[in-house]
Amino acid sequence: MKHNKLPSLIISSESLKDLIRSHLSESSIIISDRYNYPTSKKIGKTTLVESSSYSIVKKITENYKYTRILAVGGCTVLDVARACAIGKELIVFPTILSTTCISNNRSRIHFDTGSELIKTNSPLKTIISMPTLLHSSEDELTRWTQSGFGDLFANISAAMDIQYKLNILSIEQVKENIPEVLDALKWVLLHYTTYDEQCLNKLAIYLHNSSLNVILRDNTDLSAGGEHHLYNKLYDYQKNNELISATHGQIVGIGTLITAYVFCKMIENYELYNNLKQAFKKLLIPHHYDGLNNIGIPKQVLINALSDISDKSSILGDFFSQNDFSILDEIFKKLS
Ligand SMILES: [Zn+2]
Repeated sequence: MKHNKLPSLIISSESLKDLIRSHLSESSIIISDRYNYPTSKKIGKTTLVESSSYSIVKKITENYKYTRILAVGGCTVLDVARACAIGKELIVFPTILSTTCISNNRSRIHFDTGSELIKTNSPLKTIISMPTLLHSSEDELTRWTQSGFGDLFANISAAMDIQYKLNILSIEQVKENIPEVLDALKWVLLHYTTYDEQCLNKLAIYLHNSSLNVILRDNTDLSAGGEHHLYNKLYDYQKNNELISATHGQIVGIGTLITAYVFCKMIENYELYNNLKQAFKKLLIPHHYDGLNNIGIPKQVLINALSDISDKSSILGDFFSQNDFSILDEIFKKLS
């Protein structure tokens, strides 16, 4: 696939305010979430974005004249900004490291008929203000950074799904497809202590590179498999259920653990699953029933969602169409 130029990642020690200001041009507009809106609107013409519905994309592209978009916030804002920036310049300022989408060229947009992942525009630059990340409250930082790691490790489950579809259950092939993610897993097991600057730096680079893989491969096969189908199901429930408070990465993390366990059981080598579970424990990502309950996903809700995945081309979809759910008790028991 031909691509003009891959986005570059800049991790800066400047404040978000200064970074936005220095990238503002005559014909820029800023798109921001509610949290960053007070800062953004003091700097330039800012549109508040709170959902990634198609009507908002339409409103922005039809009502504003611009050649450059500066997008400030989390994934929803970045999704909308990418969709509004087709044929324009885009610079993104992620304020949380919650998913692998920070630098890619896909947007999840909600249409009247349901949500769709569409190909949009990648940013010229992805700029992260380290002081902004570090100044978020400890709870928020932990919650979103967990989500980022969960979404990163979902590449492991997606890579297993690829091998499953090929009917080549090779752990070596899984590892060969996603060397950097395995590197991240190793880093967590050996060096992670807390969500500090070093950890955020590492995660930003891993997430950025995972985004670049989507652009280079021109598909999301290595970043989204059955664990993302599970997310879509739970997301649908979430719309009608205030109790589910889980983030994207926490949910795909759950799906990743299940996929990894089933895959490892098939090849009778549990090393990768065991490493994942240890890493989840260190990172405080939910990995046992109590943790699942805490984010609003009790066992029965998980079972409902798993039985709803109709796609048989993923390990999750295929396994639970042929087996009962007793395997979950093996996966979600507490580590001693
Ligand atoms: Zn994801």
